[in-house]
Amino acid sequence: MRAHHISSTQKLYRSVNTTTRHRSNNPGAQYRWKRNAKKLSHELLPQRESMHGKQSRGRDYTPLFHFLLKQTGLPWDKVFSEASARLDTTDPVFWLVALHEHQRRDLVCIGESSFYPGLFVDENGLLQQVDPAITGKDVEVTCRCCTHTFIGVPV
Ligand SMILES: [Zn+2]
Repeated sequence: MRAHHISSTQKLYRSVNTTTRHRSNNPGAQYRWKRNAKKLSHELLPQRESMHGKQSRGRDYTPLFHFLLKQTGLPWDKVFSEASARLDTTDPVFWLVALHEHQRRDLVCIGESSFYPGLFVDENGLLQQVDPAITGKDVEVTCRCCTHTFIGVPV
């Protein structure tokens, strides 16, 4: 296989062997997290409590998030179909993509301190970014022990 070739069957997640603990005792950070978590759907995110402090089920879905962000403007059914075929579970898709208007968020925090723009499906069935103007400057750094990132780039 040529080095630059990216197979369409390439997995959108990686296995991780280590779990990192969140060392902050900043109560504000914890409160903010819980407040945001309440906005998430119980049906789509049954394990949301496990998102802070360790990676969910030993999987790193960073490749999925980058994949989704690259698909903005494209038909959601095709994007979801391709993503599903390359995932072990589709739950992480909905950490970024809001299917209902009340679930839309400008900025989504994955794990301890990895931020991504929130996405949604518009009335034409296209995947869109909730706030196209959002940048790393909008990330609020809530502790010193974690490297806060926006789409993988430290802020
Ligand atoms: Zn921290």
